[in-house]
Amino acid sequence: MNLKKFARYPLTFGPTPIQPLKRLSAHLGGKVELYAKREDCNSGLAFGGNKTRKLEYLIPEALEGGYDTLVSIGGIQSNQTRQVAAVAAHLGLKCVLVQENWVNYSDAVYDRVGNIEMSRIMGADVRLDAAGFDIGIRKSWEDAMESVRQSGGKPYPIPAGCSEHPKGGLGFVAFAEEVRQQEEELGFKFDYIVTCAVTGSTQAGMVVGFAADGRADRVIGIDASAKPQQTFDQILRIAKNTAGLVELNYDITEKDVVLDTRFGGPEYGLPNDGTLEAIRLCARTEGILTDPVYEGKSMHGMIEKVRLGEFPAGSKVLYAHLGGVPALNAYSFIFRNG
Ligand SMILES: *Cc1c(COP(=O)(O)O)cnc(C)c1O
Repeated sequence: MNLKKFARYPLTFGPTPIQPLKRLSAHLGGKVELYAKREDCNSGLAFGGNKTRKLEYLIPEALEGGYDTLVSIGGIQSNQTRQVAAVAAHLGLKCVLVQENWVNYSDAVYDRVGNIEMSRIMGADVRLDAAGFDIGIRKSWEDAMESVRQSGGKPYPIPAGCSEHPKGGLGFVAFAEEVRQQEEELGFKFDYIVTCAVTGSTQAGMVVGFAADGRADRVIGIDASAKPQQTFDQILRIAKNTAGLVELNYDITEKDVVLDTRFGGPEYGLPNDGTLEAIRLCARTEGILTDPVYEGKSMHGMIEKVRLGEFPAGSKVLYAHLGGVPALNAYSFIFRNG
């Protein structure tokens, strides 16, 4: 595998810490050791998160190509667009963000607080659009690109979650390499890696990265899109493409992509009772916050799998905390009593 041939522009603090979740593990019976890798605090750029790690492999192309405007897309409370806005500000580039109506939720200040508030403060040109949830390429996004060209700019396209970008999977190949180094220092290897999956390039990168030492199917994706077939297909496609890029010596197939579809409901962006219980339990046992859109769902998946005995006793499980906490502000009604 050859990741080194790709330029990487540093936007993160460096390797993210791995911490034992001792009280949560004990609360769940103590038979499985849970750990978290903290991508949620991987950068000083507007709280960072998994998209910041992905952007490290996209930005060199944007800089070398002389692009002056980063264009991206997401839901109203998108973490992706907040991270693109921060990176644009950091690099002195302009930023146009299409924010669509992906979530059927209407807290009074849903379109004012959290991620979208931060993107506006960082000077991004935020454009609200009425279109609904879809992880594919959108017309509103192509319109935004065209409007930048019309005004004499050179737009650099960064699709939803960075995932349809040809290099969108590389950041999480690097994540796997980083985990391998940390495992050497820790003196043990993780049996499972749990990650949230929606647009797919996070899990796809991990699948490729961990395939390098035979652990592709130890990456347990927890679907939070509630459109699991679309997400599964996208993970597989991106993993195959990424494997080609890094010249992985192994053929990725369907059996390498494990996507647990039990925890994503009722729909994208809306928590179920288990999501909320997991958010509160993790917060109260560990002081670690997760959000109702993504990480609360993968936290729920991990907790439930421990409870159901789906990880053999003695397993060491690494939860990839991918960020997303700023969106909590937009769900204030749900948490009005804690
Ligand atoms: C985008 C995002 C995810 C999903 O990652 P994908 O690569 O889109 O599958 C999970 N958690 C958080 C916090 C995110 O912002």
